[in-house]
Amino acid sequence: MNKKIFTENCNLSSYTTIKVGGVAEYFAEPRNTDEFSFLVKWANLNKQRLQIIGAGSNLLINNIFIKGLVICTKKMKTLTINPYSGIVEAEAGVMLPTLSNSLAKNGLQGGEWAVGIPGTVGGAIYMNAGTGNLSLAKNLISVKVINNKTHEKVELEKKDIDFEYRFSSFQSSNLAIISAKLHFEPNGNLEQLIQTTKNNLKLKTETQPYHLPSFGSVFKNPENNYAAKLIDDMGLKGFKIGGAEISTMHSNFIINNSAASSRDIYELITIIQQKILQNKGIYLQPEVRMIGFDYPN
Ligand SMILES: Cc1cc2nc3c(=O)[nH]c(=O)nc-3n(C[C@H](O)[C@H](O)[C@H](O)COP(=O)(O)OP(=O)(O)OC[C@H]3O[C@@H](n4cnc5c(N)ncnc54)[C@H](O)[C@@H]3O)c2cc1C
Repeated sequence: MNKKIFTENCNLSSYTTIKVGGVAEYFAEPRNTDEFSFLVKWANLNKQRLQIIGAGSNLLINNIFIKGLVICTKKMKTLTINPYSGIVEAEAGVMLPTLSNSLAKNGLQGGEWAVGIPGTVGGAIYMNAGTGNLSLAKNLISVKVINNKTHEKVELEKKDIDFEYRFSSFQSSNLAIISAKLHFEPNGNLEQLIQTTKNNLKLKTETQPYHLPSFGSVFKNPENNYAAKLIDDMGLKGFKIGGAEISTMHSNFIINNSAASSRDIYELITIIQQKILQNKGIYLQPEVRMIGFDYPN
């Protein structure tokens, strides 16, 4: 095993934005595609379970021993922008706020919405993260991936990927995202783009508990409804289990306000689901991905 790119028994709580997590048997942060591919191959050849994570901003990891290899992509952050053609190549670990600010500074239009989402490009494509009807899918040309089972690297065109509300076909595949090629509209008004980007971040921090440990929206919005409104209507704002609390600022956020355990958070999710189902007949589907729980992701 290559000591330089692996650690053993790594506590994952500092790799998630809600600041809870288990202990990974093996953990690695590759700095480029070659290291990433090597690690994927190593896991497969050694029959180790493989779990890819980005910025951990949509993850609830159980506080247990996680067998196998966890790869965090955050150090794969090469970003190439052509301001004339609008073609952008981003490695999986590029953070959306970095992407958004860099696009604006280069006069490229279409990424201003992404500034307030604290995830990586890989995580955003996998989750089809976005706001309103905007997501990276809109600007996507292709995605380079490596197959976890065969180690084959391929470049998928956008037409070969299925995107729906907070869903991409990567969620039902064995593919690890290496990088994405995108196109944004060139020759935008620099000042205006920078201002819009700033305003979008301000709006986010004013309406969501942005600076507290959370994983963003807990549940997907049901058809023709809002998870936050349903939770609010039940009077659950501020409801706590242990250190996990339903945010008083935004009811679809759970915050870790005093050393919450992953169990506290999981139980809070379950209680919300039960109450909404009993009282409104609606099943709230988690948006957050769970690792180490018996929950069908
Ligand atoms: C304050 C806050 C605000 C948020 N606002 C929004 C919002 O407005 N809209 C929105 O949609 N989301 C929002 N989120 C949720 C989250 O930021 C997004 O879902 C984000 O895209 C997740 O990216 P990540 O890198 O953190 O992925 P992670 O949380 O690390 O992983 C999420 C999933 O993606 C998979 N994954 C990650 N990288 C790869 C890869 N390279 N290859 C294969 N699979 C991969 C993981 O296995 C996991 O299943 C918010 C979160 C927070 C904390």
